[in-house]
Amino acid sequence: MFTSIAGRSVVVTGATRGIGKGIAQVFAGAGARVLITGRDEEAAKGTVAELSAGGGEASYVLGDVSRRGDCARIAATAAERLGGIDVLCANAGIFPAAPLAEMTDENIDEVLGTNLKGTILSVQACLPALAASGHGRVILTSSITGPITGFPGWSHYGASKAGQLGFLRTAAIELAASGITVNAVLPGNIVTEGLADLGEDYMAGMAASIPLRRLGSVEDIGYAALFLATDEAAYITGQTIVVDGGQVLPESLDALDG
Ligand code: NAP
Repeated sequence: MFTSIAGRSVVVTGATRGIGKGIAQVFAGAGARVLITGRDEEAAKGTVAELSAGGGEASYVLGDVSRRGDCARIAATAAERLGGIDVLCANAGIFPAAPLAEMTDENIDEVLGTNLKGTILSVQACLPALAASGHGRVILTSSITGPITGFPGWSHYGASKAGQLGFLRTAAIELAASGITVNAVLPGNIVTEGLADLGEDYMAGMAASIPLRRLGSVEDIGYAALFLATDEAAYITGQTIVVDGGQVLPESLDALDG
């Protein structure tokens, strides 16, 4: 089971590091041909070198998902280099904190432009290739923050992540006729470079609030995304998988004492 991904063409946005890199590693390890994207060329080169050293087939193209032209270039590169797109993992995202009372237009536009508009633009750009695939898969990286939980400083971020799910539900209906499924993975707190930027105290506090008592790994997200991309998941669309070690479950901190 779960072998259908071998040889498939996979685009992962925001894969120069973090969760996207983990998704790319899992897909490459399963025999997929992976095109990673991001804006940092040095990081992109490093990730491709790691994937290749692990025996995977990988390359990169630079692009900012908040720009329509960049998304078109990413899709065109995939068509040229991989011969099409079977799977799009729309993962690129940012989570700079800003208290609501102090939030500027720039704060809002940056987060919504990358996380929400970037999701829509990258899916739009890849649509013709995904439809041509015959088994097109779109997998969004959303979050528990927004769709299920909240955290001070992230009202704009939460809106962007919940907005992705609003997009997903209609996209899944519209794209079903083309045989494309659209699903999302909702990570809890996953150890990435971006999360590390939030500091040790944040990470320790989060780990203590998780029933499985550890932060997630990027591979934890990669495996969920991989499942959604397989032929075995062909009848699942418009759905979400929470991958959070049970973080959303406790009704209070006392629930974790037992
Ligand atoms: P990260 O370590 O900061 O990595 C973010 C990735 O996105 C980088 O590869 C970055 O590449 C790329 N990126 C950022 N802005 C971009 C843009 N405008 N255009 C293209 N690429 C862009 O973050 P992460 O923790 O892996 O987060 C990845 C995704 O998971 C995000 O959507 C985030 O909301 C979601 N998520 C993360 C967690 C967590 O605990 N880590 C939890 C829930 C959801 P460049 O710097 O090269 O552009």
